[in-house]
Amino acid sequence: MGARERKRSAEKAKNEARSFSFKDGMQTFTDALTAKLPDIQTNIIVESIRRDGSGTWHIQGIRYGEQRSWQTAAVVLAAPADAVSSWLAPFAEDAAAALKSIPYAPVATLVSVWKREDIAHQLDGFGFLAPRLENLEILGTLFSSSMFDFRTDSDHAVLTTFIGGMRHPGLPYKSDEALLDIMTSDLSKLIHVKKPPLWTKINRHPRAIPQYTFGHLKRIERIDAIKQSFPGIFFCANWKGGIALGDCVKNGHAVAKETSAFLDNI
Ligand SMILES: Cc1cc2nc3c(=O)[nH]c(=O)nc-3n(C[C@H](O)[C@H](O)[C@H](O)COP(=O)(O)OP(=O)(O)OC[C@H]3O[C@@H](n4cnc5c(N)ncnc54)[C@H](O)[C@@H]3O)c2cc1C
Repeated sequence: MGARERKRSAEKAKNEARSFSFKDGMQTFTDALTAKLPDIQTNIIVESIRRDGSGTWHIQGIRYGEQRSWQTAAVVLAAPADAVSSWLAPFAEDAAAALKSIPYAPVATLVSVWKREDIAHQLDGFGFLAPRLENLEILGTLFSSSMFDFRTDSDHAVLTTFIGGMRHPGLPYKSDEALLDIMTSDLSKLIHVKKPPLWTKINRHPRAIPQYTFGHLKRIERIDAIKQSFPGIFFCANWKGGIALGDCVKNGHAVAKETSAFLDNI
């Protein structure tokens, strides 16, 4: 949503919205959702979906190594674009092609713990994004322990650094040692770290962020068009309607309402 539209709907601007996190990480969020739902099955690798002539959806997948199938009146596809594309390909070629053409940027995240005295900067803020003209290899760093004081004690600092993106798509695949060097070297220029971190956890996300490139809205129209020919199919994922977690939650509510209205009317 653009700034003007947010103002009209009295929504907080993104730069003013409060940040939130969970003490035990994002798993807290999905665990809470799971606990609220009466009949939920997780750990399923969906292989295919199809809608038969009577309007029933058939889902084929693997759960704990066993081939399983499910029948439903509606499906909400909440997976990355490449997975959804492979499910749609047998019956909705154009929508599958539109999904497949959404580019994704790879990102490596480095969560690092430092001795507070080894960083000269005050870390008074949420962190920084590195603009292209700075010629740095990192994309930016969050001062995680400044944003959320439960992350560590006052003798230490926790930083989360992002490397890769569309600017440096090859970097996330470098070795752990190379990524550590990149981070430490850039952080020494910017926030004057004096020594390497005490501990670092590196995660690589090969398809991290879907890119809303020129023509994206047209792609979404082509994907949504199949809702007319195949009633009972819904989409809810970060390749549509916003990437931030807050946008995903908001879209989740809207799709839940849409799905429930559909089910009430059959
Ligand atoms: C490194 C990184 C940092 C981020 N930081 C922030 C941040 O600070 N703030 C913020 O607001 N947003 C952030 N985001 C963005 C935000 O977290 C995501 O856009 C959002 O969580 C995506 O939600 P989703 O439901 O679309 O996808 P996901 O949460 O990725 O869910 C998709 C699900 O589909 C499942 N799936 C895939 N294939 C199959 C299959 N064949 N069968 C069954 N299931 C399948 C996956 O297992 C996964 O559970 C970040 C993203 C990344 C990658």
